[in-house]
Amino acid sequence: MKKYDYLIVGSGLFGAVFARQAVDSGKSVLVIEKRDHTGGNLHCKNINGINVHEYGAHIFHTNNRMVWEYFNKYAECNRYTNSPVANYKGEIYNLPFNMNTFNRMWGVVTPEQAKRKIDEQRAIINHEPRNLEEQAISLVGVDIYTKLIKGYTEKQWGRDCTQLPAFIIKRLPVRYTYDNNYFNDRYQGIPIGGYNVLIDALLEGSDIELGVDYNENREKYDALAERIVYTGTIDSYYRYRFGKLEYRSLRFETVELEEENYQGVAVVNYTDRETPFTRIIEHKHFEYGTQPATVITREYPAEWREGMEPYYPVNDEANQSLYRKYAELAAKEPRTIFGGRLAEYKYYDMDKVIESALQKASEELAGR
Ligand code: FAD
Ligand code: UDP
Repeated sequence: MKKYDYLIVGSGLFGAVFARQAVDSGKSVLVIEKRDHTGGNLHCKNINGINVHEYGAHIFHTNNRMVWEYFNKYAECNRYTNSPVANYKGEIYNLPFNMNTFNRMWGVVTPEQAKRKIDEQRAIINHEPRNLEEQAISLVGVDIYTKLIKGYTEKQWGRDCTQLPAFIIKRLPVRYTYDNNYFNDRYQGIPIGGYNVLIDALLEGSDIELGVDYNENREKYDALAERIVYTGTIDSYYRYRFGKLEYRSLRFETVELEEENYQGVAVVNYTDRETPFTRIIEHKHFEYGTQPATVITREYPAEWREGMEPYYPVNDEANQSLYRKYAELAAKEPRTIFGGRLAEYKYYDMDKVIESALQKASEELAGR
């Protein structure tokens, strides 16, 4: 008999949801985490009463009522609706692309006028789009592509829009209504008190050790538990035996300002090529803060190198086929379950991570 039923490697959302389900089924759980705090990329740092999203802005949104209710059981969401604005050389446009954007861009007032304008501009692409530039122009025309997409995208991905796959831009909604809500999902909000409230509630009842890297202490921790849930990078689990997967990283520059309201909205995207950062987040607006001071974060895209946080998987063909080789090995592991965005090398929103963790936990726990 080992000391714990489950060892969970990583205290991010996947690990925390799994831990909650296991503890609720009467299992004993040890969570180990290499950072000095729990929560993974959801972690918030409280600065002068403001919950600062330390690893980038996180807005919870979902179409799945069961996931919404699960989330709200542990941390109640406020009514935050993401309505970012774009700043192109001082000109301000609403996002996502909608009638407010088209009105500001061309002075058009009705949906029909906007459609006519976009149709004129997209006529130059008369074949199936072969790259992101062609996809964007065929979706919204040349003006919006030039002012709101090209610079932002090239900064974000570190390559020219003609060298990027078309699918990246298919995520962006285009609307012929005056609706600045960024997401189409039915439910949306920010947990009142920040994401740490959620993570703390999910981890209640589990033992936690911080500052421990599983891959450097494997024998010790394997000996402590019957079964293992691993949420770190899959290539590091296998000591990079087939090669390294690629990621995009980010650098965050956070400053406290002695003013009440810096930009009037939580998220401003800087869409020109020259400004080196992609966006500025003013954290207090996620929770309608009224503090006398404010905290802002500039977000700079960066090529990932060892030692940096791996934020976005680069899901191109070469990386996907490398990932599949690791996934084949993972499928054969007798007592380790792999889950979450690093172990599955997948761009996962929070709601999808919760769905996946609940699914895997229910399959796992049903038989035990
Ligand atoms: P993680 O949060 O990465 O957790 C993994 C944990 O495992 C980490 O704490 C890590 O330190 C730990 N770990 C890794 N290796 C080891 C090891 N060897 N030993 C011990 N511990 C280890 N989703 C949304 O729904 N809405 C948003 O607005 C949104 N915005 C985002 C913005 C940014 C900039 C990024 C990067 C992501 C965003 N996401 C958003 C996605 C969201 O962050 C993820 O869905 C979620 O964090 C995934 O949880 P996870 O547990 O899979 O991974
Ligand atoms: N994008 C853009 N201009 C913007 C915002 C987004 O061109 O003002 C493009 C960009 O290519 C980005 C993609 O849309 O990579 C997806 O952006 P989104 O904000 O949905 O995703 P995130 O960066 O939060 O993962």
